[in-house]
Amino acid sequence: MPHGKRPAAVLFDRDGTLVHDVPYNNDPELVEAVPGGRAAVDRLRRAGVPVGVVSNQSGVARGLIGPRELEAVNARVEELLGPFDVWAICPHDDADGCACRKPAPGLVLRAAAALGVDARDCVVIGDIGRDVEAARAAGARGILVPTAVTLPGEVAAAGEVAADLAAAVDLVLGRTAEPAAVERPPLAVPGGEKIQTAGEVAS
Ligand SMILES: [Mg+2]
Ligand SMILES: [Zn+2]
Repeated sequence: MPHGKRPAAVLFDRDGTLVHDVPYNNDPELVEAVPGGRAAVDRLRRAGVPVGVVSNQSGVARGLIGPRELEAVNARVEELLGPFDVWAICPHDDADGCACRKPAPGLVLRAAAALGVDARDCVVIGDIGRDVEAARAAGARGILVPTAVTLPGEVAAAGEVAADLAAAVDLVLGRTAEPAAVERPPLAVPGGEKIQTAGEVAS
């Protein structure tokens, strides 16, 4: 989708993006939101942008996460981060060869269809290369928010990278990631003419 246009929806990866990654987590008590996560998602809600979750949960296929446990963990995610308009979850493992496990586009396509929007008008925000690849495969815009475990190659391959969810939402809503730049007073020049600052040009 063209940048600068408000997206039809923003789809978030869950683990390592909305909440800290606890591998194969089946315990709602271990769910912890990333700093600033709630505020970032709330900004999209207030802007009228539908929000969703697209999450690989291969622990289900491996028998490490029961369906009720998955439901309980997801419910806890909503308690901490607020309600999401759609959840699309892949319970499969690589061996299943499904069409939904990221980097396949299935989850993104399914979430977009559930919201009645075109995947090409959606943004996907995630913490690893699989998220960005799934976005690309679905025709959506991908934004990588790396964590300590994100590989340098994944960062290099991502078209867009943001430092955290707040910065990613800044990109989505078309605002500068550094508000200080636009709050600088206009430069004064001899003769009193006002010239544009870099921030004003960019905004
Ligand atoms: Mg993740
Ligand atoms: Zn799947």
